[in-house]
Amino acid sequence: MFDLVGFIGVGTMGTPMAEKIIAAGYKVVAFDSVPEALERARDFGAEIAASPCELAERCNPIITMLPNSNIVEKVVLGPRGIIEGARAGTILIDMSTAYPMSTMKIAEELSSKGMEMLDAPVSGGLAKARQGTLSIMVGGKAELVEQCRPLFQVMGKEVFHMGSVGSGHIMKAVNNVLNACNVAATAEVMTLATKAGLNARTVVAVLQASTGKNWATECKFPKFVLTRTFDDGFRMDLLMKDLDIAATLARDLNVPMFIASTIHQIFGLGISQGYGEKGHTTIVQLMEKWAGTTIEG
Ligand code: NAD
Repeated sequence: MFDLVGFIGVGTMGTPMAEKIIAAGYKVVAFDSVPEALERARDFGAEIAASPCELAERCNPIITMLPNSNIVEKVVLGPRGIIEGARAGTILIDMSTAYPMSTMKIAEELSSKGMEMLDAPVSGGLAKARQGTLSIMVGGKAELVEQCRPLFQVMGKEVFHMGSVGSGHIMKAVNNVLNACNVAATAEVMTLATKAGLNARTVVAVLQASTGKNWATECKFPKFVLTRTFDDGFRMDLLMKDLDIAATLARDLNVPMFIASTIHQIFGLGISQGYGEKGHTTIVQLMEKWAGTTIEG
């Protein structure tokens, strides 16, 4: 068991994940750039560090759960970053959703200092983070994955070893393309069905019992759309980042992505219309506007 786990980025997802680690008996030292996030971390029992560097002097492993690769690079490699403080042998576990190429670059820089890295992005959203039942897709050396498995099992139900470092982030991008497709396609058919006069709640129930079933019909529409709360906990701009990652990967590998390209444009339009900081299920509101209708539960 690790003595002191570092956790950088105690936001929407990082908070329940760090809480689970503490509840399992680990000591956690947290850092975040937002003072309120740190206050929250103190309240749930974490110690607070003054910088990523100071945290890295004390902790092994160090988990990052940050918005994007640029921020991960800054926190790891920048001034007062993790690399300045960490000892050889320290393991960085990046659980953010991030660019695989950036992850590989960070891992290389860390290895020149004798440090190790795993990428271990998660799926399941806020609800599963709170339950400790996330899916975790891990890239990196097998022996490190096994060493960290007990920690992963505190946050997640399923832990998959995908291959070398960066492969967890590749898997996450692929999953989130499909997630975005499901949300957008479900929004489209729900708009059509309800404008054609069907009852929204009944349509979701039938889709759930039929071949149109997917995670949007099972969870997102009943919980966030039919209730009109749209508080799904996953901002549209973060989903857009995932679509950007997949598009970059597809371009690098010469893989055509016709459906993903359309979905990319739809969510890009959502962001241009001011939905970026709102839950990604608000894409429904955009489609309702176009169609001149409302999906009422
Ligand atoms: P969030 O914005 O709520 O949390 C990110 C945290 O990082 C914030 O507390 C922020 O203050 C902190 N932060 C930003 N810059 C920092 C810096 N330079 N130094 C230290 N802290 C900094 O985002 P989130 O929804 O928790 O998502 C985190 C990651 O998890 C993202 O990569 C996202 O794509 C991924 N993810 C999110 C969900 C979801 O449902 N929200 C699900 C799976 C994966």
